[in-house]
Amino acid sequence: MAKAQKKKDTTPVGDQPIAFAAEISKVLHLMIHSLYTNKDIFLRELISNASDACDKLRYMALTDNNLMEGDAELKITLSSDEQANTLSITDNGVGMNRDDLIESLGTIARSGTMEFFNNLSGDSKKDASLIGQFGVGFYSSFMVADKVEVHTRKAGEAEGYIWESDGQGEFTVKVAEGEQPRGTTIILYLRDDSKEYTDKFRVRHIVNTYSDHISFPIYQQTEEGEEAINEGSALWVRPKSEISDEQYQEFYHHVSHSPDEPWMVLHNKAEGVIEYTNLLFIPSIKPFDLFHPERRRRVKLYVKRVFITEENVDLIPAHMRFLRGVIDSQDLPLNISRETLQDNPILRKISDSISNKVLSELKKKAAKDAEGYAAFWENFGAVLKEGLCEATTNKEKILEVCRFHSTDSDNLTGLDDYIERMKEK
Ligand code: ADP
Ligand code: MG
Repeated sequence: MAKAQKKKDTTPVGDQPIAFAAEISKVLHLMIHSLYTNKDIFLRELISNASDACDKLRYMALTDNNLMEGDAELKITLSSDEQANTLSITDNGVGMNRDDLIESLGTIARSGTMEFFNNLSGDSKKDASLIGQFGVGFYSSFMVADKVEVHTRKAGEAEGYIWESDGQGEFTVKVAEGEQPRGTTIILYLRDDSKEYTDKFRVRHIVNTYSDHISFPIYQQTEEGEEAINEGSALWVRPKSEISDEQYQEFYHHVSHSPDEPWMVLHNKAEGVIEYTNLLFIPSIKPFDLFHPERRRRVKLYVKRVFITEENVDLIPAHMRFLRGVIDSQDLPLNISRETLQDNPILRKISDSISNKVLSELKKKAAKDAEGYAAFWENFGAVLKEGLCEATTNKEKILEVCRFHSTDSDNLTGLDDYIERMKEK
């Protein structure tokens, strides 16, 4: 056979098993053998992925409505089968094709994967709470299942695929026979010690605990039909008085992927020259990549409740990159593309406004509770001080909330206090 100069197709075809990347095998081993003390979180992770998939499709459909294929009511459905011992999580979001499946679920370890290992403490409960943070959430399905199938079809594509694995080193991807609906169904074949997850009340309880804030409706299939089991509306648009501390906290876990309690919650609606709602959190622990050179900001931008991006747009200043949460703008056009968000004057205004708000809340907190403020300063003071070296209009205000060590006492001191104490001349 003549050797043609053809690019080699490295995509494995058919039922050929594909090996997991080495780091992922390690993650799987941990999931299966040691992180099962707080198993319930697998459902939070899978629902969070389903919600992300719906967000992605809704964003893509802004510019190409055909992708909705006449099925624009995005939703998540849970169904269980006690006979077969399975629990399924279905979404009609963006779905995955073969390449997506191979990349996302097995061969490419994220940059966070190594960090995940570095952060393991050996305390399985603590370690399980790290799962979402480092982008290994999907693999938590193996805490409760000894076999996982992913049936999926990508929006706008014809072919559906089935990914399958027992979490022991390999997986397979094959073409789905017959019609595969758009989106993804994850079928968990439950382990003997995890049969409880076929129990509808148990599942509903977990959803209420961890996933009530998800902005897409979550349905549970029952003998009588489908029943909605969450509120299904974006948390940040609900009135403050109707949101409990637990709901804020779960939402914080969802957006930050961080296991701690937020140090501060900022939930406001700005009405005036610019209109937006912010639900922002200051963490009580340092995110692992806080001092990475890219200085990534991770506040999510929504426009009229449609998720747009969490990439590095100028939504908040870099020296406030410890902030987590969402900002939902009323002023940006819905058909905005991520590219046109660079150097956008509306975003600049939102960023200035948020910056003022954060600094004034910090000032209040510092005045009211110096000790509590010291905890914030310990975590994020160095980041905030970067703002002093940057072109911002807020330097004075940043200085007001800066704290320093002094020879006067063991406590941190601010410039105002220092000036008060200062001896004459
Ligand atoms: P993360 O959610 O932090 O990206 P996960 O391990 O939870 O990490 O998921 C890995 C990737 O697999 C996701 O980023 C996504 O690309 C893909 N994925 C997982 N679940 C779904 C789903 N239901 N629909 C579409 N893609 C999914
Ligand atoms: Mg995830």
